[in-house]
Amino acid sequence: MEDLLSYTSLNKRRIENICSLVNKLESKYSSLSDYELSKMTDRFRFYLRDGKTIDDIMPDALAVCKEAIKRKIGLVPYDTQVIAAASMSDNIIAQMATGEGKTLVQILSSYLYALEATKDADKSKWGSVHILTANEYLAQRDKVQNEAIFNLLGLSCGYVEDKSNSDKPDYLKKKQKAYSQDIVYATAKTVAFDYLDDNQAFDIRNKYINRELYHAIVDEADDILLDQAVTPLILSGTMPGLDIVGTIDLANYACYFVNGVKGYRNRPVTCTLADQFEKNIDTKFGDSIIFKDTLRTFLSDDLLKEIYGDKDISHDISLQEELFNKESAITNAVLAKYYYKRNKQYILREIGKAIDTDGKVKKVFEVALVSEATGRVMPKTKYRNGMQEAIEAEEAFLADGKYIIKRSTKNIEKSTITYPEFVRLYKTGISGMTGTSDIEDFKDIYGLETYEVDPRIPSARKDEETELYSKKEYKYEAIVRDIYERHKKQQPILVGTISINESDELCSYLDRYKIPYQRLDAINHKDEALKIANAGKKGMITIATNMAGRGTDIKLEKGVEELGGLYVIGVSKNNNKRIDRQLMGRCARQGEPGVTKYYQSLEDELVLTRYGKVKLIAFKKYYEDQKTKITNHRVIDMVDQCQITEEGISKQIRRIENQIHLNVFSVHRDKVFEQRNKILGANYKELIDIIVGIIKEYSITIVEDPTEVDKVRHLIDIDSCYDEDNLKYRNNIMSALFNKFKASKSNMDPKKYLEYIRSRLLDIIDSYWVSHLMYLEDMKSSIMNAGSFGIDTLTRFERDANKLFVSMNNNIRNEMLTYSINPYLEFGSYVINNSIGGDIGHEITH
Ligand code: ADP
Ligand code: MG
Repeated sequence: MEDLLSYTSLNKRRIENICSLVNKLESKYSSLSDYELSKMTDRFRFYLRDGKTIDDIMPDALAVCKEAIKRKIGLVPYDTQVIAAASMSDNIIAQMATGEGKTLVQILSSYLYALEATKDADKSKWGSVHILTANEYLAQRDKVQNEAIFNLLGLSCGYVEDKSNSDKPDYLKKKQKAYSQDIVYATAKTVAFDYLDDNQAFDIRNKYINRELYHAIVDEADDILLDQAVTPLILSGTMPGLDIVGTIDLANYACYFVNGVKGYRNRPVTCTLADQFEKNIDTKFGDSIIFKDTLRTFLSDDLLKEIYGDKDISHDISLQEELFNKESAITNAVLAKYYYKRNKQYILREIGKAIDTDGKVKKVFEVALVSEATGRVMPKTKYRNGMQEAIEAEEAFLADGKYIIKRSTKNIEKSTITYPEFVRLYKTGISGMTGTSDIEDFKDIYGLETYEVDPRIPSARKDEETELYSKKEYKYEAIVRDIYERHKKQQPILVGTISINESDELCSYLDRYKIPYQRLDAINHKDEALKIANAGKKGMITIATNMAGRGTDIKLEKGVEELGGLYVIGVSKNNNKRIDRQLMGRCARQGEPGVTKYYQSLEDELVLTRYGKVKLIAFKKYYEDQKTKITNHRVIDMVDQCQITEEGISKQIRRIENQIHLNVFSVHRDKVFEQRNKILGANYKELIDIIVGIIKEYSITIVEDPTEVDKVRHLIDIDSCYDEDNLKYRNNIMSALFNKFKASKSNMDPKKYLEYIRSRLLDIIDSYWVSHLMYLEDMKSSIMNAGSFGIDTLTRFERDANKLFVSMNNNIRNEMLTYSINPYLEFGSYVINNSIGGDIGHEITH
């Protein structure tokens, strides 16, 4: 019953109708010359300007685009592809199985959106349509492959490189050029980061994105939009004007120095732990010595000489400071390496996942201090004076890129954004394509409907029943037997695992039996496309983590169909059924044969959490010695329930987290970026207006909020402004501030003044935004860690966050005034106490 009301069933007739109109128009457009065909784009734009809608011109536009595809790459789009593209014209996710040809759907659909984006007679008002792919390789491949089609249609097409190319010459220019095209290929990650970067720019000419973001078409939409929905993209870096002890760069430097990393120091710094403080410190202790009872640390004279060199620095204050900072950082690094111990003074606590700079999703751990008295984690507590940063640097060094250590230097997260927040930037939103949709999630998180496109040829895939074993080891044995049997007759096999660890485990079994295989995952990702191309060959065994090689389809070698097609094995089920379906969908493309089978054991992670932990523990014991598969259906059903439970819980968590981002982070970010952009783009007069505006607004705040009064004492004689009448009081403050401001700028060159004040004001916004984000993140993680959500969780969060936001804005205004009135005040010499309520966190000294 429910299905009758789905978007698909309600719209099927209409969309199939469009498709048959497209087919009828085929001969009309195939008779046009290339030139005539390319002029059709202008004609469609004219119709749209003239009041026609995209629906009116859709059959003709799709027929024209279809013709262009045929002429340029020789493929004739199937009806299913036209249907998918037609459905997508209205912010829809088209669900289409792997191998059905979503790459051509992108082209058809983007053409429709591009017509609208470029319909204006004034070219400067044109927007771009972005085609967002799951990885860099696909963006590049699809751009090269499809550019000629768009050009024939009179549209320009570009490809945006990711950050890894940022040292290459002309990086900025190339990027700006790519963003100025009608159709832009990029990964979602690249565009999101470029957007964050643009909002840190100090010169408007350095912005990457220079055209309106009109619409985005997201390929492999489930991966980008659902799997990574609450994984924030984090733009990090250092900031100018901050005290240098405790910056990541310095902590890293000291850590490499102490560990003897090449290029920093040739050998590790040695250290002796001494029980008691001795007066006569001797270099017999090595490079350094730590006194355990006081934690006083001394560096040997030789080491100090290494750090300070033998230059005379007594007259150079800034060099003195720099070297002093270096010395303290190295002292901290010595303590971090030789004194502080993981699982003693602190633990690594998993706090989620994030996308690392190499584009891989990794686990994130924070260094959480443990009370040595109670053995419990001390929430929100950090070491001071660079010690926290030193421990984190040491842990990051030990992590060696396998996972991420959250670095807590105050100003490292310059900005963050999640995908649900990011896609709001597109004027007409997004649409997308996916092999496996989660209709409820797309609706819930993005408000997008799913259209389920029937496969061109009905699927011939055979899904075999899941096999359940008591122990992991019996499961692996069974999988290896299964692989061996299928491999004997040369059937290609794709084995999906949930993690690199699981791949490792399975591979050690395969090695033991000398079964050959190729591996594909975040570590073994070289030649990804080649490996996928070979995965459908006779006798090939491919061990891949679930996400690896997505977007490239597995073609079967001749003769493989007779062997039963590709055989897909899932080593264990995911905590989300959609990801299982994704793996299963990799075989049996376009009506080919294909078989899938999942394995499970009572020791699997999924079974051991929550539901299973309570319900299945007894069975685990009962079946302990059984090496053959478990056939009891009650147990099998309970194992299935584990997945359903996990899925439900993670959906609920994701929903809350997403709401927090959309209702709070996004709202605050939009306001801050808007203000920043106003300042960035202002000319002299506009800048003065902005400052005058600030004076007006802030004067009101001062009258309304007595706590603000003391904050302007250093600017004006506030007491003599006082008046019983609030309006008069306000006007007095306003004119006092204004006069002070007028006097300050009177003797300055306007141009110099403009540039100077502009960068000061931007600095102020940036540094407050960064700490605001940090507070929000802290507040968010304390809610998320608590794990149980009441009805008012979100309301409370919003209320507290907005309070912080108001207070941040007051501080920004106050500081902006301070600098506008005293433009040459040394940066950082005036700091407002911006602690709010006092419970944000506290620091301890070691
Ligand atoms: P998907 O992204 O849906 O998995 P792809 O776009 O990668 O599928 O296409 C799968 C394969 O089908 C490619 O080799 C492609 O060239 C081929 N293909 C797609 N559309 C057509 C078509 N209309 N006619 C012939 N081959 C097609
Ligand atoms: Mg694809």
